[in-house]
Amino acid sequence: MGRIKGSTQLTCIIGSPVDHSKSPYMHNLAFEKLGLDYAYMAFDIKEGFLKQGVDGLRTLNVRGFNITMPHKQEVMKYLDKIEEDAKLIGAVNTVLNDNGKLIGYNTDGKGFIKSLEERDVKYIDEKIVLIGAGGAAKAIAIELALKGVKNIVIVNRTLEKAEAISNTINKNIQGSESRSLVLDEKLLKEELKDANILINTTSIGMGDTIDNNIINDRDILHKDLFVADLIYNPVKTKFLSMAEEKGCRIMNGLAMLVYQGALVFKIWTGTDMPVEVMKEMEKRNLIE
Ligand code: NAP
Repeated sequence: MGRIKGSTQLTCIIGSPVDHSKSPYMHNLAFEKLGLDYAYMAFDIKEGFLKQGVDGLRTLNVRGFNITMPHKQEVMKYLDKIEEDAKLIGAVNTVLNDNGKLIGYNTDGKGFIKSLEERDVKYIDEKIVLIGAGGAAKAIAIELALKGVKNIVIVNRTLEKAEAISNTINKNIQGSESRSLVLDEKLLKEELKDANILINTTSIGMGDTIDNNIINDRDILHKDLFVADLIYNPVKTKFLSMAEEKGCRIMNGLAMLVYQGALVFKIWTGTDMPVEVMKEMEKRNLIE
């Protein structure tokens, strides 16, 4: 780290835990490749200490910071301005310090959209079905609606959570229409008949549920679906394997992760993240 100087601008991630995060590696590699005078650290800020943490970052005049669990919602209270899409999503995953003014953004959903665009997947005039209605689903559904996607269906075990996202879209984003359904394979099969994109946004298929699949009946799928899973560890979930066997194009969550980071990099530095850094992260499955 011989490159750190008196002028070096600090960026960081805050959350708890953060020691597993590979974002410091990605951003520092990109700063180094481009010769930018920034550095990135990870700070473990426990629940109950967020205000002090944000005050401290403000005092230190950091250039920007990422926010991860459990602070993505609460951090909004301590910022000076929040972008409209992040307000609708109700969560912020990155902050820019613009001359002392802290501005909140959410790049999660935009990162997912960028991963579709990079694969030339058409989505604007298509019917998109999301399974799951947590934070990631909300970010993706709202950004898709803001992009002009008209037909968004949200399917979740807990119907109320899906309805809450659909209501946010229908009330706030003109021209977009979202419906919600409870997770039931018969209903899902019907819904998928004329759908083009299916996204698993639930946590089923990783960690303790690595051997599980959010759907059981492979005949729910048809080969013309583009099927995505937000999970990237394992690289191919049971859900994606099933879709691949059915002849669908598939995508795991790694590209979303890399692109949301690249968008953050651009917000802080005004510069595109080097493609070679993104490729390395994608190849090595390095970020969490
Ligand atoms: P979250 O807010 O906790 O939401 C979890 C979702 O999974 C909810 O819809 C929940 O349904 C559903 N779920 C959990 N267990 C279930 C089960 N046994 N059966 C059916 N549904 C179940 O989590 P999140 O932040 O949205 O993250 C969701 C996933 O996306 C995680 O795997 C996370 O790692 C991944 N992710 C990836 C990226 C990326 O960049 N690739 C970014 C963010 C998140 P209920 O509402 O019924 O509880």
